[in-house]
Formats: sequence, C-alpha cells, structure tokens
Amino acid sequence: MVTPTGSPDSAGSPDVTDPTGIPTTGRTAWTGTPVVPGVAYAPALVARAEVSPDAVRRFGERPVPEPDVSLEAYDAASRSVADGFTSRAAAVSGAASEVLTASAGLTLDKGLRGAVRTRLRGGHDLLTSVHAAVEQFVGVFTGMGGLMAERVTDLRDIERRLVARVVGEAEPGAPEPSEPSVLVAEDLAPSDTATLDPALVVALVTEKGGPTSHTAIIARQLGIPCVVGTAGIMLVDPGTALLVDGATGEVSSDVDPDDAAARVTADVEAREALASWSGPGATADGRQVKVLANVADGESSTAARRAPVEGVGLFRTELCFLNRTEEPTVAEQTAIYADVLRPFVEHYVIVRTLDAGSDKPVAFATHEGEENPALGVRGLRLSFDNPGLLERQLDAIAGAAAETGTETWVMAPMVATVAEATDFAAAVRSRGLKAGVMVEVPSAALLAHRMLEHVDFLSIGTNDLTQYAMAADRMATDLAHLTDPWQPAVLQLIAITAHAGQEAGKPVGVCGEAAADPLLATVLVGLGITSLSMAAAAVRPVGARLAATTYDVCQEAADAALAASDPAAARVAVRAVLDD
Ligand code: PEP
Ligand code: MG
Repeated sequence: MVTPTGSPDSAGSPDVTDPTGIPTTGRTAWTGTPVVPGVAYAPALVARAEVSPDAVRRFGERPVPEPDVSLEAYDAASRSVADGFTSRAAAVSGAASEVLTASAGLTLDKGLRGAVRTRLRGGHDLLTSVHAAVEQFVGVFTGMGGLMAERVTDLRDIERRLVARVVGEAEPGAPEPSEPSVLVAEDLAPSDTATLDPALVVALVTEKGGPTSHTAIIARQLGIPCVVGTAGIMLVDPGTALLVDGATGEVSSDVDPDDAAARVTADVEAREALASWSGPGATADGRQVKVLANVADGESSTAARRAPVEGVGLFRTELCFLNRTEEPTVAEQTAIYADVLRPFVEHYVIVRTLDAGSDKPVAFATHEGEENPALGVRGLRLSFDNPGLLERQLDAIAGAAAETGTETWVMAPMVATVAEATDFAAAVRSRGLKAGVMVEVPSAALLAHRMLEHVDFLSIGTNDLTQYAMAADRMATDLAHLTDPWQPAVLQLIAITAHAGQEAGKPVGVCGEAAADPLLATVLVGLGITSLSMAAAAVRPVGARLAATTYDVCQEAADAALAASDPAAARVAVRAVLDD
C-alpha cells in the first residue's frame, strides 16, 4: 500500500486562490477532464514549470563577478544540464532518446556559449547574458522555420534548466520520483514525458491541456491514469496523498487511506480483466466493430501487431519524415511503407498521405511563413501546387502494397470539398487501391453523403474535427474545455458522417484520440461508426468496454451524449446509461 507523506489539511494556504478564483483554503477535491481511465493513490510529486522568482531575485542582488568567473559558472551549469539530458537519453530508446541527445548537444553548443561570453564581456550578469543569448538563438531558429523552429521549445527548456543550475535550484520540469507518485504539473513538455516510468508515475494530473494534449497522448500510450485541465491543482502541497480517478476526472486528497487502497485494488482487478480481452472487436450482442491501431513507422507497426487488432486504421506517413530535409525517392518511400504494411499482411492497413504543415512541419513539403498554418496549406492542399509530391507518394504506397501483398487503403487528410475527394479517389484507384478521405473539416462532415458517392470509406479525425468545429487550436492548453471531442457540436458532426456511411453501406471509422476513450467508444458505435483506430496501448480497454455493452445500450449512450449540454454532462449521462 502507498504511504502518503502529506496531509490533506495542509493543502493550500488561507489567502490563496486558484486561477478560477476559487479559494484553496482546505481544498481537498478537484475535477478535470478524464483522459485515461484507472484509479491511483499516491503522494503528489509537483513539477515546477519555472525557477522560483525569489532565487532569481537573490541572485540578481549579488555583485556581478568578473566575466571569466561567470563563464566558469556557465560552463558548470551547462555541463550539469547536458549530463542530465544524456543520462535520461540512455534510459530510453528510439525517438525519445534522440530528442534528449539533441537537447544535450544544444546545451553545450559552442555558438550559444560564445553568445553568452559576448554578453558577459559587455558587463552583463550571467542570467541576463544567458537570456539574451537564448533569445538570439530563438530568433535565428524561428527565422529558419520548419524543424529548426520546433527546437525553440527545447531552447526555452534548456534556458529554464540553466537558470535553475546557476541560482542553485533543482532543474524545473518533472522531478525523478523515488517512490510511486502522482505527477502533478501545469502541462508536460516532450522532454519531461520521454522518460516517464509507469512503475513510478502511477497517475498524471495537469492543470492545463486537453484530451489531445501531448500529456494525454503519452499517458494513453503508457496506460497511465490521467486527468487534464484540472483547475487549481498546482496549489496542492507536494507530498499530499491524492486519489486520482482517470475515468471520472475526480482528484481528491480527502480520502481514507484504506478506502483508497480498496479502490485501487478493485481498479487493478478490473484492469487485469480488461487486459485479457483478445478481440475481435464486437459489442456484447455480436455487432462487429473493427478495433485498429494507429502507427507511425515500421517499428510501431510491428509492435501494434502484438495487440489484438484487426489492422491499421491510421498510418501517419508524415511522421517518417520529420527529420528529412529532402523528399525521399520513390524507392526509399516504398521501402519505408513496406515495413509498415508487412506485419499486417493478413489484415489491412489504411495509409494516410502526407499531412505536412501546421503542427507537423516537414521540411521538404511545408509552406513556410504562413500567417495561420492550421488554416493554411496543409495535408492534401500541399498537392495543389505540387501534384508530383502526391503522385510520387501514391506510387510508393502502391509499390509497397504490391511488394508485401497487404490489403492497402489510402486516405487524404484535410479534405474540404467533394471535388477534392473525387480527384484524390481517382488518383488512388488508378493504382488499384481503395480510396477514402479523412473527415477533419466540418464541411466534409456536412457533405459526407456526397463524399461517399466518390470514395470507398471515410475516417473521422476527431482531433482536427474538434479544432475546426470549435475554432479552438488543438495545442492551446487554455482552450482545453473547447477542444474536447465530447462537445455536443462535434458529436453532431460525427453523427451526420456515420449516418451517411450507414445510408451508403460504406465504412466510416474514427482514428482521432476520441477512439481511445472507452466511454466515448460506446457513443461512437451507437452513432454508427464501424471502426475505431487508436494507440495500441488503448486497444484492450476499448475492446473490453464494447464487449460488455450491447448495441442497443451504445445507441442509448449516443442519444444521451448528443442531448447533453456540455462534455462533463455528456460523460455523466453516458456513465449513467452504461451503469444501468
Ligand atoms: C485527427 O486529426 O484526429 C487525426 C487523426 O490526425 P492528426 O492527429 O494526425 O492530425
Ligand atoms: Mg488531423
């Protein structure tokens, strides 16, 4: 059993209020958006986003030492920060390790050091010099655009860590847990989540972020119970024992330890029962629903094959090319795609053509300097003035399909008009493959019946459909209450699309994060969705939930969700239907 190290009574101080204006005095309960089900009880480990202002002020009050003395302090700080990145890189593999190794290199960058030294010799103190040097690099990286601009987040992360070392504090970000803990944070950066150990981080609670935030996606992949958008949680005292319910979004410190332990045990048993689900996807009364995996490359495809899935519902091809400056040749692309198709030769794979642009910059495809990239030339739109890019990719996909013998469907992202769907379908079918489009733009949902006259299937990308229906940036942590696929308006668009599929007798799947939410999965099936595609780690809870629910009850759940006034009410209403 977990031994709490804090006391609920110590949460908050009398005159403190959280950002919602709710006094935190004696506050023992919080509610956020539930994103990964599961119950956990452990002390809060609070990740600080910034270095404490007091420490920075005290440092600023000291006399400014000689530039060489400050430069030595800088060298010591940058070595410690880089060593931290390097040791965390050694503990993980793949992309996570690459991110951390690159950050270690950037921390020790000679150009950055030179920029700091110039400021120091100009008479500035070390913190001012570090900040000015980082700003100079931020300007350069931003100007270069694309992948380099992405590194700005890393630079800011490095600056925070350097400042902490210089003023003698522990580095901000997620601290290393020494015992099973609930990690509480404003939001988590990729460098924080790269090394999360599910044995030590038993739940995640963030103050900001929504169901599609980076934190939520990683928690889902790792199967860690997670609640996001939890107003006021950053004021909890570190060490306070928290009971986290990732199914309801409730976080509480006012709980009897024995009751909490009993709830955790019951949850572990329930999760073990879920883990035994072995497919194929169907409701309790036998209505088939394909449960599929989302993959990014050959490695994740091979891993997904071990989960009880009937195929791949979304292969995000652009993720293979985030670090490429030149477009790979058709032969090279064919080999990359074949690695993804091969593990699923007995099933089928839906390949999505490049969704470059906006939140996924691909150097050889993305249009630089757009005022508003999410509404700009992204996804299929890249082929408007560069048709060869799409043609070559389709050739490579067709080549990989022929080489592996895997049934291959192809879909385009960001389709807004019927004409786009028609042209795309013709290009795909001319290569002997099945053609579909993603429903991510509300116009595509509203015209789904007409799209289906020209394509073989539709796949709803709820992450973008929610962003565009609610006019709320999916990355904006402050708008998490809007970027929630449980929003009634989003559910209406899904209902329209699914209904069109039923009328046309063609498959309509969901491949956004919504498909990974077991509760929402019942609603989607009730609306008429025929396949659900998700991170492989989410497959068993979703499959098990469907297996325990009849189609009639799914339809009742769908009606209840559609009738609710907001996402929270929809979740409560659906849970009531399922518990009946
Ligand atoms: C989506 O938008 O829901 C989707 C699946 O595409 P992505 O998340 O890659 O934009
Ligand atoms: Mg999308």
